Amino acid sequence: MNKQLVLLLCVVGVLCGPVNVMGETKHCGPNKIPFDPDTEGCCHLPLPLPDGTWKKTPYPQNEPDPCSIVPSGGAYAQVICYNGNKYICVYPDNFPSEWKPPKASQETYEAITNCITQHEEVHMGQDIYCPECTAAAKHPPGQGYMNECIAYQDSRDCAFALPYSEGQDNYLRYITKYLKDNRCPGWYP
Ligand SMILES: [Zn+2]
Repeated sequence: MNKQLVLLLCVVGVLCGPVNVMGETKHCGPNKIPFDPDTEGCCHLPLPLPDGTWKKTPYPQNEPDPCSIVPSGGAYAQVICYNGNKYICVYPDNFPSEWKPPKASQETYEAITNCITQHEEVHMGQDIYCPECTAAAKHPPGQGYMNECIAYQDSRDCAFALPYSEGQDNYLRYITKYLKDNRCPGWYP
């Protein structure tokens, strides 16, 4: 679908999901067109200009670690948008103590971290989008449920393949609980 049509549909309220989810559209650059990472590129945080637009970053290579800029929100990991690109951020500080030393071995911790990273890699291959220049990426409206079920099923396979340890078992239970609690396909009680 071409961009003009998407914008027109948004104006008439048919298809505002990718453009306007929170009731407010953030812009990147001076043109006030809804943010498009393909054309808008680089933005600073926390610098919305007085007119509500966002300043472009001409030297993204000089920017600090993108993962230190977008709040984790308590997540174990997430895909963020920064400078028009998507990055996988992992937050071991938010992991349960059972998944990391000293309770878990370094090997278990690294293996769980790999599974958590792999979960985000699944999301990278999905139709997630950037609602703002610099923010957590979002699922398209209505797709979050299946996107997460697919990613958690991948995590389940990853966790199941790890050597047994208390940390591995704890992580596997967490994932299985998610699949059951959310009644993901194949996990109905
Ligand atoms: Zn996920």
